[in-house]
This record gives sequence, structure tokens and C-alpha cells, in this order.
Amino acid sequence: MNFIFVGMNPEQQLTALRNELREHNYNYYVLDSPTITDRDFDMKLKELQALEEAHPEFYDPNSPTLRVGGEVTKNFETVKHEYRMYSLDNSYSKEDLEDWEKRIKKQVDGDVSYTCELKYDGASMSLTYENGSLLRAVTRGDGFQGDNVTTNIKTIKSIPLKLKGDYPPKFEIRGEIVLPFDGFNKMNEDRIAAGEEPYRNPRNTASGSLKLQDSAEVAKRPLECLLYSIKGERLGITTQFENLQKAREWGFKVPEEARVAKNIDEVLEFVNYWDVHRHNLPYETDGVVIKVNNLQQQEELGNTSKAPRWAMAYKFQAEQVSTVLNEITYQVGRTGAITPVANLEPVQLAGTTVKRASLHNADQIEKLDVRVGDTVYVEKGGEIIPKIMGVDLALRKEGSSPTKYIETCPECNTVLVRQEGDAKHFCPNEENCPPQIIGRIQHFISRKAMDIEGLGGETVALLVENNLIHNYADLYELTVEQILPLERMAQKSAENLVSGVIASREIPFERVLFALGIRYVGETVAKKLAKHFKGIDALMNASEEELILVDEIGDRIAQSVVAFFNSEENRNTIERLKTSGVQLKISEEQLAGQTDRLLGSTFVVSGVFTKVSRSELKKLIEDNGGKVSSSISSKTTYVIAGDNMGPSKRTKAEGLGISIISEDDFLAMIS
Ligand code: AMP
Ligand code: ZN
Repeated sequence: MNFIFVGMNPEQQLTALRNELREHNYNYYVLDSPTITDRDFDMKLKELQALEEAHPEFYDPNSPTLRVGGEVTKNFETVKHEYRMYSLDNSYSKEDLEDWEKRIKKQVDGDVSYTCELKYDGASMSLTYENGSLLRAVTRGDGFQGDNVTTNIKTIKSIPLKLKGDYPPKFEIRGEIVLPFDGFNKMNEDRIAAGEEPYRNPRNTASGSLKLQDSAEVAKRPLECLLYSIKGERLGITTQFENLQKAREWGFKVPEEARVAKNIDEVLEFVNYWDVHRHNLPYETDGVVIKVNNLQQQEELGNTSKAPRWAMAYKFQAEQVSTVLNEITYQVGRTGAITPVANLEPVQLAGTTVKRASLHNADQIEKLDVRVGDTVYVEKGGEIIPKIMGVDLALRKEGSSPTKYIETCPECNTVLVRQEGDAKHFCPNEENCPPQIIGRIQHFISRKAMDIEGLGGETVALLVENNLIHNYADLYELTVEQILPLERMAQKSAENLVSGVIASREIPFERVLFALGIRYVGETVAKKLAKHFKGIDALMNASEEELILVDEIGDRIAQSVVAFFNSEENRNTIERLKTSGVQLKISEEQLAGQTDRLLGSTFVVSGVFTKVSRSELKKLIEDNGGKVSSSISSKTTYVIAGDNMGPSKRTKAEGLGISIISEDDFLAMIS
């Protein structure tokens, strides 16, 4: 037994050893300055393991021994984010930033300063801590909900399982999971030595690691988590820069490069410096994130449907290389849209091997005058698929002739059409063009749509090729006996497939509507339509005029919806989905709590509130049929004013004769 334990009971020993190992982890992984050798650390960890085995009654879900992983997750649970995880708007020039500053100054009073941070290129992560312990780790997912990957995240040693200092009782902290170059290269050396394909790039490897089923496998990967933002109620923090400092004090790894800039010129200094020096950083970055420093001003600015108005990403210039174009092939998407693809001589670009690039459409090919055999410039920025930017004419081979765009579908030979105003050619053979049939069903089962477990894109193709299904309604009639004879299909997988299909009958109407694959009806539009029409019958019978009356639904969407439901085949499919028990109207629970009381009124919310949070307030407005807007105009009906409402907002509202009401007035309005 270790001499320092003399006089301690087992519980005290466990606590002492756990605390000591936590401190060593922190020194090594967060501060990069270990105070003991790796060997001593391993011995102590083994000692703790033995002690825990002998005393299971003192189990600690956040013990340092859990860092090695071992727990296996078959299905990651979906968790709704308490605070939505937004995307960021992008800027590329000084002018973009100046325009952004102008928009900010219209909406907030007083001086505005900015925190500049590096934009780490990895996978976003939301961590929730309660009473100083890690409670949950959730991926960004679609921003509204993500996957619970806590077991895997616990193996990342720079993420504290227990906090230090004066942390608040409950908060959420966000960061980026990255795989530093060193560790990434080491992993690849091992893979090559073992005769395996090396990983393509650190970013995808990091994000792929989060969803591995075996946490012991995750533990082997040298992942890190770099933190950049804290969310919570009443944290007593007033600036973003302080957010970073606090996070550091509580034991998180927060890179030290961040600076406060007093104006856009200082922001640009930061950007220019890191555009050059980022190549010396141990991990990948793809830009700088600039945030309004004052959190009260951030609140005032709020968010668009996609991104916060108080933050802006500045993207570094994408990297460019040149290579030879070997062949142009054509892909048919689920809507019949044709995309020309450049097949390239493989080339290294921004850490990945590029073999294919998008050529977008016929006009683009014509504009660039790109020809097979040409040497072309390829560019890649962030997650965008590589693009062909131009041709090196000096290297053009003699006797080459301009590219002739295809006239018939490469899959079904139907003559392609191109409608007025469309950039793309389409294969009009919706009913019988194989990639369209398969693509529609693949979209239907995809994660953001029906999320059918046990069924993947390749199996869909297999089912279609074997004539077992022709459209998504057929899925609900599949039987285990029918599927079993397929290649590589075991009894268990066949059963999982069928039960996955049955389970999808619980997916709410708004997602079913998105799954149908109506052109231009994405997730957000599907939500709007579901909320407005409440069920498929009303939507099916709506005219273009009625559709346009719905907020944010324009001509193009309205026409597409009407056309979809005009098709006899689509109406049949919907009837069959209905018979199969798929949700084709919004549920009772969703209906409850929703009223029309605020219909026709537009609200602007300003200041800090005591009874409900700002986001609750906005939800209440929308649930009761009202609209939320971020800036005061003649269209505003009410301004709900909390503490510290900006004086210029007040003056503007008064000038326009808009009623300014309190939180209580509002709550009375809807009760
Ligand atoms: P995008 O995915 O291009 O919309 O950019 C938004 C993402 O940038 C966020 O979801 C974060 O994962 C990531 N990000 C990286 N570094 C930062 C940072 N310092 N502040 C905020 N977001 C960051
Ligand atoms: Zn076709």
C-alpha cells in the first residue's frame, strides 16, 4: 500500500487518489506541463483501478479511470439543446466587416468592442456541467438537437470531469473537438504500418471519432477540446473575453491567442497576423471568429434564423492548387438535377487528397471553357466540396475542343430539360429514373427526415434494384421474409430494418413533410407549413394564393407544393402512408399551448427579464401566433421592455408611437 494512505479509510483513499490524478491530467493535458513521469502516472492509475474494483460501493461516474473508456454505445440518444447551436455568418473582406459593424451600430447603443478568437476546425460540442461535474456532452447535430456522446467525450483528457474554482451551479460550455496535427500524423503512421488506408484529414477524423461505438477506441485517439463560449442563466459574466478567462479558471483548455479589439482596424490586425502565423499552430484553423464583447449588447442583437448577429467568422483565403482534368462525368440527384463532376488527377490540397470537384452546371463549364485534358485550378474552403476556379490556358493541349454538355440522362437516356431561370438541367423521368427513385427514398429515411434506424442508403439501392420497393410508401409493407434473400442480409438486420420502419411512424408531421421531398421544402419551410396547416389534408387542398399568405412562403415554394400534390401518384403515396400509420397531422401535445391570440402582432424584445428568459419570451410569442422581429420599425406592434432597454430603442419606439409594454403586461396578454 502507498505510504501516503496511512490512516485513511478506503473512501478517503479513493478521493485522494482521484483528486491527485485529476490534477496530473490537468497539468499534462490543459497546461502542457506535467509534474510526474508517464510511468508514475500509469502506476497511480492502476492503483486507483484496483481500489475501485475492491470498493464498487464508492463508484464515481467522473473518476479518472473512466478516461480509458470501455463502455460501448450502440445507439446514441438524441438530446434537445437547451440553447440552440447556431452557425456563423461568414465574411471575407474589410468591407464585409465594416458593413457588419454598421448593422450592429444601428441596433445597439454605446461603444462596441470585439473579442477575436481563432476559428478551430473540428466538430462542435456542447458540454453541460452541474455542481462542478460533467453531466452531458452533446454534438451540434442540426443545431436544435444532437447526439449524446458523453461516454466518448469522457475519454478526452483535456475535458475536466470535475471543475475547479468558483464555477456556477449549472451551465453549458461550447467548444470544438480537434485532432492536433501531431497526433493525427502519428495515427496515420500506425495505420500505414498496419497496412490500412490513412485518414484523410484531422477534421473529419475528429468528428468521426465522436460517434464510434467503442469508447476505448476513442480513448486511443489524441483528441482535444478547445472551449470558446459559456451559456447559462445569471452567470454574473459581462463580456465574452471574461467568458474565456472564467472557463480557463474552471479548468478548461482555452487557447491563449484571443484578444480584445477596440475597432474593426484592430480586428483586421488580428486577422492578418493569424492568416500568416496559423501554420505554426498545432491544430487546424480556418479563420477567425469575431464576437461583440459586451454580452448585454449580444442579447440586444440576438440571432437571425441561422446565426447570431453579434458574431462573424472571417474566413482565411482558401488554398488553391492546379492539376489535370481527366474526365467529366454527370451525376443525377434525387430531384433529377444533373451535376457535372470533374474527375481530377489526385492532388494534395489543404490536408486532403482531392480527386473530384464540382463543375456546377452547363453555364459554369461554358464560362470557364474547361476541357478534358486541361490543367485546372482547384480551390477548397472549409467544408465546401472543391471547386474548379479556372483553366491554365498556357498549358492547354493543342487540338482540344470545347466541352459538349450531355443532352440525355446518363442513367435512363431520357432527353434532359432545362427550364427558364434554372441553372441546372433536369432528367424529367421522375417515375423511372433509378437514381431519382433511390434518391427520394434515401432522403425519406435520412436522419433529419424519418431517421429510419437499421436502413442505410446502400440497402435502399439494393431494395430498389431487387424490385422490392419503388417509392417510400412501399417501405411500410416490407416483410422480413422479403428482405432475407438479399445479399448480406442476416435475420437480425432484416428484423431491425422492419422494426426501424415501424418506429418511424412516430416521427412528427413536420419531419414527415420534409421527408416527402417536395422541391424547395426544406426543414424550415416544412416546419412553417406544418404549423400553419396542421395536417396534410389542409395542405393538399391549399391553393397557391393560400400558400403565399403563409409567412415566408413565396411563389416558387407555393408552385412547387401545388404541383407536388397535383400528381395522382403522389396523392396515392400519401394515402398509403396514412393507412400505414405515419403522422400526417400535428399531435395533440403540439396543438395544446398554441393559440392565435397574438395573430397579426409583431413584437420586439429588448432588455433583460426577470420572470421568463428572453428565449422563452420569444417562444411564447410564436406559440400564440405572434411574430418576433429584431428591430423596431413601423411594422412593430409592441416592444416588450425589460431592464436596461437601450435608450435609442426607446426613443425610436416612442417616435413611431409603438406601445412599450412590460414583461407582466405581456404575460397578462396571453394568459
Ligand atoms: P460554421 O460551421 O462555418 O457555420 O461555423 C460555426 C462553427 O464554428 C461553430 O459551430 C463552432 O463549432 C466553430 N467554431 C470554431 N471556433 C470557434 C470560436 N472560437 N467561436 C465560435 N465558434 C467556433
Ligand atoms: Zn434519368
